Amino acid sequence: MPELASFKNCTGCRLCQDVCAHGAISFESKYGFSYPHIDKEKCINCNLCESMCPETSSSNYDKFNRIDSVPYAVWSKEEKIRKVSASGGAFAELAASFFQQCKGSNKPCCVIGATIDGKKVRHIVINSETEISLLQGTKYLQSDIGGIYKATLRYLIRGYSVLFSGLPCQVNALYKYLANKEYNGYLMTCDLICNGVPSSQILDLDIKYNLPDLESIISFRDKISGWENSLALTYKNKYGKCIRVPIEESLFLNAFRKNFFMRNSCYNCNYCHIERKCDFTLGDWWGCNYPKERKKDGVSLVVCHNQKAETFLKNIGNIHCYKIKWKECLPYNPRLFCGKRFIGYTIPSIVKKNLLSLNYNTVRRLLTSEMNIITEKRFWWLPFKVWQIFLQKVEYVYRKKMLTNVLKQYE
Ligand SMILES: Cc1cc2nc3c(=O)[nH]c(=O)nc-3n(C[C@H](O)[C@H](O)[C@H](O)COP(=O)(O)OP(=O)(O)OC[C@H]3O[C@@H](n4cnc5c(N)ncnc54)[C@H](O)[C@@H]3O)c2cc1C
Ligand code: SF4
Ligand code: SF4
Ligand code: SF4
Repeated sequence: MPELASFKNCTGCRLCQDVCAHGAISFESKYGFSYPHIDKEKCINCNLCESMCPETSSSNYDKFNRIDSVPYAVWSKEEKIRKVSASGGAFAELAASFFQQCKGSNKPCCVIGATIDGKKVRHIVINSETEISLLQGTKYLQSDIGGIYKATLRYLIRGYSVLFSGLPCQVNALYKYLANKEYNGYLMTCDLICNGVPSSQILDLDIKYNLPDLESIISFRDKISGWENSLALTYKNKYGKCIRVPIEESLFLNAFRKNFFMRNSCYNCNYCHIERKCDFTLGDWWGCNYPKERKKDGVSLVVCHNQKAETFLKNIGNIHCYKIKWKECLPYNPRLFCGKRFIGYTIPSIVKKNLLSLNYNTVRRLLTSEMNIITEKRFWWLPFKVWQIFLQKVEYVYRKKMLTNVLKQYE
C-alpha cells in the first residue's frame, strides 16, 4: 500500500486524489479536516500518489535561492469592488483584467478559485467577468478542491488561458500535477498569504449551539466596522433572511482569530516563504501606513514573484498600485516568511479529538480563551492561561528572530 503524508503533515491539498487513475482515493473528515482514505479493493499499488504527494519525504519542495519578489500596495478604483473584497479587491481586478486581455486577443480563458457552497467552500471554474463575484471575498474554511487540478490541465490542453487561485499548498500541488505534462494554454497563478485553515468542527459547534437556523454562509468578513475590524459571519437563515454575527458573538471566528485549532500542517507550513513558485501572492497589507480615510475600505498586499507578474499588474487600469518596502509589510504579516506556530500546542490533542462530546462552555473557553480568571474566580484555568502566554512568547521570539534575518536579506 502507498504511504501518503502523515496526519501531522498532510495539507489536504487532494493532489493524491487527482493523480489516482483508479478512483481509489476518497476524502473523509477527521476532527473537522479532510484526510485521504485509500480503498484497498481499488488500489493497484502503483505508488503514483505517494511519489506525487508534496509532503512525503520522497518528494521535496523546491528551494528558492533568489530574491526576485516585490511587494505592492494595491486597491481597486471602484468602491463597490473594494467593499465586497476581503482587502483591497486586488483579486477581482486581476481576474477582470485577465478576462479582458484574453478577450482582446481572442483567446479562450477561465479563472479558477474558491466559492462558498452552503456551509462549505469549494473550488470552481468561471468563464466570464460577470461571475467574478462568486470567487470574491475570503473564506475561512479549507475548500474542496478534488478534481480541479485535472480540470485545469484539461483547459490548458484545449489552449485556454487559465488564472488559478488558491492557498499556497493548493497552488504548489497544481504545479506538481502539471510538471512534465504538455499543453498549449497559458497559466497564471496567485496564492494567498495563509494563516491556516480552522477545523470545520468549530463551525459545526457554533451552528449547533448558537446558529441553528443557518442555511448557508454568505461571508466571513465585511467592512461594516472597517477593514481592520472586518471579521463577521453573515449567513442566510431558513427563512431567507440575512443575519450578521459580529466576531464577539461568533464562536467560529473568535476561535479562528486565536489559532488554537487549525489543521496540523498549518502549524508548520512549508509554503510561508517570500519567494514562491506562483506569479502573485495576495494578502492584506496589515501595517498600512496610509491615512485612515485612504485605507478604510482595505488595501491589498500584492507580491509579484516575477517580471511577468509585475508587467501584468502595472497594466491594470482600474487599480491604485504603489511599490512598498519589505519593512513596511513583513513585521505585520509573519505568514509571508514564517510557517511555524507554537500556539498549536495550547490545547491538548485529546481535547481536539473529543471536541464534539465535551461540555460546550468548557470548549468555548478553551477555543477562545475568553475568561477572566480573577473576576470569575476560576483559578483552575490558571495553568492553561500560563501555558498559552508562554507559547505566545516563544512564538513571538522565534518570529522576531526570523524577521531580523529576512529583513537583512531583503532590505
Ligand atoms: C484561510 C485563509 C487564511 C488567510 N490568512 C491571511 C493572513 O494571515 N494574512 C493576510 O494578509 N491574508 C490572509 N488571507 C488572505 C486574505 O484574507 C484575502 O483573501 C486576500 O487579502 C485577498 O484579498 P482581495 O481583496 O485581493 O480578494 P478577495 O476577493 O477577498 O479574495 C478572493 C480570492 O481568495 C481566494 N480564496 C478565498 N477563500 C479561499 C479558500 N478558503 N481557499 C482557497 N482560496 C480562497 C479566492 O479563490 C479568490 O482568488 C487568508 C485567506 C484565507 C482563505
Ligand atoms: S497529496 Fe495532499 S492530500 Fe494527499 S496525502 Fe499528500 S498532502 Fe495529503
Ligand atoms: S497506489 Fe496507485 S492505485 Fe493505489 S491509491 Fe495510489 S495512485 Fe491509486
Ligand atoms: S497554512 Fe500552509 S498547509 Fe495550511 S492551508 Fe495554508 S498553505 Fe496549506
